[in-house]
Amino acid sequence: MRVLVVGSVALDTVKTPFGEVEDALGGSAVYFSAAARYFAPVDVVGVVGEDFPMAELDFLRAGSVNLEGVRTAKGRTFRWSGVYGSDINERETLDTQLNVFTDFHPELPESYRDAPYVFLANIDPTLQLDVLDQVRAPKRVVCDTMNFWIEGKREVLLKVLKRTHIVMLNEGEIRQLVGESNLIKASKKVLNLGPEVVVVKKGEHGALMVSKDAFFFAPAYPTEHVFDPTGAGDSFAGGFVGYLAQADDFGEEHLRRAVIYGSVMASFNVERFSMERLKNLEEKEIEERFQTFREMVRITA
Ligand code: AMP
Repeated sequence: MRVLVVGSVALDTVKTPFGEVEDALGGSAVYFSAAARYFAPVDVVGVVGEDFPMAELDFLRAGSVNLEGVRTAKGRTFRWSGVYGSDINERETLDTQLNVFTDFHPELPESYRDAPYVFLANIDPTLQLDVLDQVRAPKRVVCDTMNFWIEGKREVLLKVLKRTHIVMLNEGEIRQLVGESNLIKASKKVLNLGPEVVVVKKGEHGALMVSKDAFFFAPAYPTEHVFDPTGAGDSFAGGFVGYLAQADDFGEEHLRRAVIYGSVMASFNVERFSMERLKNLEEKEIEERFQTFREMVRITA
């Protein structure tokens, strides 16, 4: 099954204790697609400026990602810059320049409108809503966001959540959204806003999935090579939604596997800057990490 994603296509300037990059390929829709394409074909909606180096997206085009819905507009590409300190889980945003996203009104190509799986990646919730309005009858809508939008566009975001089946938030975001520090209580409050499943991403401490009747927790892959966490959330979402679309089943067992595939894809992503690690993965590597996860959480009776 195909996956439709709307989100940022960005040029990121990032500094970590291990190095820095300037104007590197980034953005929530790009990280998502780079991961999801290993599981299912992806249709991207987004916008870039005239300064965007289009050839950088060739690896996606060559790997079952359809970029027909990525428009080029007059002006500069979305830019984001962030810095990580010695605690690699802590990130400070230095600058967010919406640029061409400020006046962007997505118009979905006709072939996108029957998308069975929709991922609303981190972007202005007004655009997320715009896209939802143009999709006919999605089986599952999954949504991500961040502090920037929870603070700045809360009311629209709440409208999006009403129409979302699965929402992904990190610990800080969920606390900010519902004003509750206990993650279980906070998740239940989010379930009251519309979604039937909440996935709380806890960085190097794994991910928690809460629904009305079930609860699941998965650790993060114990990698020794965390180089740049940028895009961890989006690549997690790529593995998660990509797997669900491939299985075309969102029962509890598949949701659990999706969390593990999400964790696997995020663990690869953080090993290098930008898309470097997600560019050339082999299916065998993905499956090996999936099996390692199995072993990690297995107990004998
Ligand atoms: P993550 O580390 O998973 O939260 O995602 C980082 C990516 O999100 C970077 O590549 C940024 O370009 C992008 N990003 C950062 N801030 C925003 C924002 N306010 N809206 C959309 N995308 C953003």
